[in-house]
This record gives sequence, structure tokens and C-alpha cells, in this order.
Amino acid sequence: MKQILPVLTGLIFTFFLCGCGVDSVSAPTSFDPGKLPDPLPSQVSATVAERFAPSEDEEKALSVLPKLARIRYDQLLSIEKKLAPLSQQLGAPRYGEWRSTWHQKRQTLANYITQGAVTADDRHRTVYLQPFDDLTAKDQLEVQKLAAFLRIFLAMPVTIQPTIKLDAIPQDKRRQTEGHVQILAPYLLDEVLFKSIPQDAACRLGILTTDLYRGSGYDFLFGQAGLYSRVGVISFSRLYTENVALFRKRMYRVAAHETLHMFTIAHEPDLRCLMNGCNKLEHFDTVPLWCSPETLGKFLWATSAEAEKRFHYLAEFYNAEGFTLEADYCTLARSLLSAPFPSRQPENTTPATSTETK
Ligand SMILES: [Zn+2]
Repeated sequence: MKQILPVLTGLIFTFFLCGCGVDSVSAPTSFDPGKLPDPLPSQVSATVAERFAPSEDEEKALSVLPKLARIRYDQLLSIEKKLAPLSQQLGAPRYGEWRSTWHQKRQTLANYITQGAVTADDRHRTVYLQPFDDLTAKDQLEVQKLAAFLRIFLAMPVTIQPTIKLDAIPQDKRRQTEGHVQILAPYLLDEVLFKSIPQDAACRLGILTTDLYRGSGYDFLFGQAGLYSRVGVISFSRLYTENVALFRKRMYRVAAHETLHMFTIAHEPDLRCLMNGCNKLEHFDTVPLWCSPETLGKFLWATSAEAEKRFHYLAEFYNAEGFTLEADYCTLARSLLSAPFPSRQPENTTPATSTETK
């Protein structure tokens, strides 16, 4: 693992956390979560694309990259710009919404690369799923579905490990709330998942059905992951529904979200994205399964995945699942990537007309 920052393995960032005790929150209304984004008009998307370009300071930091890394950065920047028309700006955060509580700075592709991120390499390329023994036989089948999804979403090998027993978790790392048991997520990350992470792991995701909590002040977590420790955990507890397709979409979303955190990818604060922070199930159900262009750029850097190929296979997978919206998004994204990036028309110029006479 070439870019894991030392001493940060214990630094766990908390995401997908829930702080209840606030009024019910609706999703931002500037988009329809059930509809494919309308590609932005060219002038608007050109402005969004410009936003992805490095600042002066970032350009300075990028200038010390090895030549091949700089070439890869430029390729990824070009992908971000080509996908800019699919960007959806989030509206202002509403009271109680995750973004109204947590003000996170945008993590650009340039600072992601230059400040060090966890990346997969030839020796650390497998994503391990670690089930716990509270999962039912039916849940275990869903874990297999999840592995199939992640193999395509991440374009990486995914292995399910033998089940670990939860009864060794000390009593002081559990609590009773609302009539059910919760387990302290940071304990699972630091003392269980991290301490026995396989040598060839790119990252390791624990999966259980018992509810999770972080500590005082947090009612529950959908999941939690370390930005540098390469371990994360998710719970099915809050995802269950009679609607199998909806359950799976939730499972895919929370697992993909936490896995991207394990590659040091932060929340996306401005654009609609799988990496939007979230604290309510009703909002969570409006978070897309796709990445914003900038998140995608970071993901491609971390995994070396090929964008067009990935979109192709993801579209196939989503179609087979009946996830038409997601499949259509992948098809549209792929078509944008195969088209040359349009150059912006210079402003205040009038079309040249030939008035010259000889
Ligand atoms: Zn998160």
C-alpha cells in the first residue's frame, strides 16, 4: 500500500451517522431522485467543468508529481470535465439535514492526490467483506449479492471471509436503546477488523445486522469507515424493508459509500453524489448510486479502474437488477466519455464573415 499515511490508522472518520431528535427532513427539491439528470446546457456544464480545474496552489502541488502520475491526473480531469453535464447542484441544506450540521470542505481531485490517499495496488487489491454471526441465512445470501455488485462497482476482486462471532464483544462496547442492542462501531473497526486485516487487502468491510452507534450524541450509524485505516463497517439494521429491490439498493449504496471512504474519499458537499453525507433514511433513499464527476475522478485514481468499461458492466448489472435509472445513468455517462470534450466558445466574439475582396 504505497500511500497509506502512518499514525493515522486510529483516526476514524464518522459518516452516514444519524442524529435523531430533530424534525423530519425532506430531501433537497432541486432534483427529482427518480429521474435521470437532464444534461446541463453546454455553457453551464462548461462552467462546472472549469470548477474541476486545479487552482494556482493546487497546480504548484501537482507540479512535483512524477510524470506518469501527472498524465493520469490530466486523464482523470478530462473525464471529470466530460461528465460535468451530469452534475446536479444540491440546494441549500435544510434544518436537521446532514449538511446543516457538518460543514465539510470540498476535496478536489488535486488535493486528494497530492495530500496522500489510500490506493489499491498489485499487492493490495482485494476487497474483503467480513460478515458477523448475527446475520441470518437470508442476510448471508444478500451479502453474496453485495459481493457481486461490488466486484463490478469497484472493478476489483471481492472476497467474503468466514463469519466472525459477535459474542466476544465486551458488554461495555454495547448498549440498549429503544428496546434493542447497539454495538460500538469504532470498537469493531479498531479492535476487530483492523487488527486482523489480510495482508493483501485493499480494504475490509464488516457487515452485521445489529444496530451500530458511535458514542454519546449519536443515535445510530448506517455505517462507519476510516479514511486511512482501510476498515469500515455497515449494519443492515436500518435498511430492512419488504421491498427487496429497495433493500438491495440501500445495501449497495451504504456499502459503496463506506468503501469509498476507505479509499480516503471524503463527502461531496455540493453536488448530488453517492458520497453525500446523510442522517435520515428518507434522505438516504434519495442519494444516488452514482458518483459526482469529482468523486469518480478520485475513485478512478484509487483503483485504476477504466471508466468506460466500468460504466458498461455497471449498466448491464443494473439492468439485470431492474435498476433502470442507474442503468440509464451509466449508459449516458459512457456516451459522454466516448465523445470528445467540446471546447468552450470564446465569449464576445461574433462569427467570422468573409468581407474580403480581391
Ligand atoms: Zn460518509
